[in-house]
Amino acid sequence: MKIKLSTVAKPHEGSRTVIESKVSPAFRGEGDVDYICGGCGTLIAEKVRRGQVRNIVVRCPECGQYNEFP
Ligand SMILES: [Zn+2]
Repeated sequence: MKIKLSTVAKPHEGSRTVIESKVSPAFRGEGDVDYICGGCGTLIAEKVRRGQVRNIVVRCPECGQYNEFP
C-alpha cells in the first residue's frame, strides 16, 4: 500500500530528528508500505513495515518540503 505523508513547516533546530535526504527513497525496508512525499509524490520510504520509521521528519530530495512520519 501507499501512504501519503503530511508536510510540515521546517522544524525548529533541535526540536525534531530531521533527515535531509539527497536520494529517493531515503529508506528501504522489507515491509509492504511505500511512503510518498505529501508535496510532490516522490517516494520517500520504500517497502517499510508500518511503524518502522516513526517520529522523524524527512526532507524531500525533489521539492524540499518536510514530511512527517507519524
Ligand atoms: Zn516532494
